Amino acid sequence: MADGTDNQHTDGTPRVHRGRDEVFVGGRWRPSAGGERIDVIDPATERLIGRVPAGDARDVDAAVAAARAALPGWAATPPERRAAVLTAARDLMAARREDIAATVSAELGAPLAFATAVHTDLPLAVLGSFARLAAEHPFEERIGNSRVLHEPVGVVGAITPWNYPLHQVVAKAAPALAAGCTVVLKPAEDTPLVAQLFAEILAEAGLPDGVFNLVTGLGPVAGQALAEHPGVDLVSFTGSTAVGRLIGAAAGGAVKRVALELGGKSANVILPGADLAKAVNVGVANVFANSGQTCSAWTRMLVHAARYDEAVELAAAAAAKYRPGDRVGPLVNAKQLQRVRGYIDKGVQEGARVAAGGAEAPEGLAAGYYVRPTVFADVRPEMTIAQEEIFGPVVSLIRYEDEEDALRIANGTVYGLAGAVWAADEDTAVAFARRMDTGQVDINGGRFNPRAPFGGYKQSGVGRELGPHGLAEYLQTKSLQL
Ligand code: NAD
Repeated sequence: MADGTDNQHTDGTPRVHRGRDEVFVGGRWRPSAGGERIDVIDPATERLIGRVPAGDARDVDAAVAAARAALPGWAATPPERRAAVLTAARDLMAARREDIAATVSAELGAPLAFATAVHTDLPLAVLGSFARLAAEHPFEERIGNSRVLHEPVGVVGAITPWNYPLHQVVAKAAPALAAGCTVVLKPAEDTPLVAQLFAEILAEAGLPDGVFNLVTGLGPVAGQALAEHPGVDLVSFTGSTAVGRLIGAAAGGAVKRVALELGGKSANVILPGADLAKAVNVGVANVFANSGQTCSAWTRMLVHAARYDEAVELAAAAAAKYRPGDRVGPLVNAKQLQRVRGYIDKGVQEGARVAAGGAEAPEGLAAGYYVRPTVFADVRPEMTIAQEEIFGPVVSLIRYEDEEDALRIANGTVYGLAGAVWAADEDTAVAFARRMDTGQVDINGGRFNPRAPFGGYKQSGVGRELGPHGLAEYLQTKSLQL
């Protein structure tokens, strides 16, 4: 482990939740049907942290039955009461902030500072925002002679990935519960521990039995059983495009609602006249945060030819400050490490130039799934590393000749999740952002807004998370003509 203070690694502290060998169904922790288990490994040390059940279709059946039984009561609970439970959960989460941060730090390998400031405080803000929205949302409106009712969709099957273990759970569970839906969660097998903490918090907050259920397990077993369950009214999935496609197809066949938050290959467009040093430094930080395991990361940096060489130097200098084991944590598992290294090798084979980092193992780290933060120069838009989601700390600098060229490159992937535009003034940046085929764009750095809708254009997904748009995903409308 490097000597940086950021990564006070926490897998030895008593604050880490080591997992309980039970699923949470109908308000009770109970053994899984099959008794199989998943080992949870700390990716920074490769040590075992704890074990959770590998639930199967029988556990999913029981959880869906509990969620169905609890639905009428929760759907009929006044929104103010639902808001009060979510507010209590938010306060309990704040009180357990250090436990949550230590647990995410251990199961994801994230440096403790990042596990606290982002992995804990972001879901806290999101839960708080849905607690307020539950009370404020117009669940009924008048259109001419009609009363239009916005009613809960029903039982939600939520399937989440490991990259932001608690945020991804809260971004689905909080709006679903605010809307009056009941939930069965299947969290990622790599990071199930903080999901168990969240279930404990909801129960302690007074959520009625069966409104929230948790079945840990493997994707093709518990995940698939949940996605295909006839008792589930809406499947909300975040993860890979490959699995998202399967879930979308199954939902289409069953004619049920689906929300998909999938991959991205977002462009960071630095227009002539922008503050280049700031745009490059913020851009590099954006990609290297969370070891590059962020679906909305600005993994393609687009720079005008006149300032391209300067940008490469700035990016390489910035990358040198991100030492693995210090500011940059490991990747989540050995499979992801192989995958990311494979992409770095592919970039070199296809003719890109490594300006910083590379596929070799970082020095001085005896254990952990670490990769060198990598800057690629001379990247052409059609290269694999400029088209496919790498999900590691790898940024590709692409040269453009004029604004039309920049726009063509920015829009030239199958994805459309996020992006950034930097320009001398806001109007110029906004005018460019309007022409980008993507769900959200940060203007000259932007500022995170937990109520702004988040989701993809094109193959980045279907539906929106966060804020009133996120809440609306979990509602269906009924009109009464008077
Ligand atoms: P994944 O899509 O396999 O896993 C996401 C979730 O889906 C997990 O809970 C998993 O158990 C579940 N799952 C897997 N197979 C399933 C199935 N057949 N039916 C139902 N649920 C299933 O993602 P991964 O393998 O963990 O990561 C692979 C790649 O996905 C990453 O390298 C990255 O490119 C992408 N990814 C994207 C995001 C995102 O936020 N959009 C998050 C994680 C991973």
